Amino acid sequence: MYCKYCGKEIEEGSAFCPHCGKEQQGNAGTDAGAGTGAGANGAPPYGAPPQAPAEQDAPSGGFAVLCFFFPLIGLILYLIWKDTLPLRARSCGKGALIGVIVAVALSIFGTVIVGVLFGSVMGGMYGHGHMALLMLLA
Ligand SMILES: [Zn+2]
Repeated sequence: MYCKYCGKEIEEGSAFCPHCGKEQQGNAGTDAGAGTGAGANGAPPYGAPPQAPAEQDAPSGGFAVLCFFFPLIGLILYLIWKDTLPLRARSCGKGALIGVIVAVALSIFGTVIVGVLFGSVMGGMYGHGHMALLMLLA
């Protein structure tokens, strides 16, 4: 590390600079400075909840799953919570988004599968019908 006052290289973790004798506070010093700065700006210094302390804002897997299966509910919950509970709202939004994507993908996939199955069944029927016709003619 380097002394923040004189810039000379000093031993890692040294409390005082041997060159200029100033006290070295390392990262703790800069963090404390930033903290007091934020406090001076009027922001709560210790992350005190600004409102509704009963409801904890956190990413919620349960709501994400719920919104995955019911994207419309997810969208509504996202709009309700995006200001008061942004983390939980994001879980809902993400769940709903993935739910919509999966639903669309499944519907496309299902349409293709049904189309292929239906096509092959029709083709099979046509083939058998054709064979039966040939046998009748023979
Ligand atoms: Zn120094």
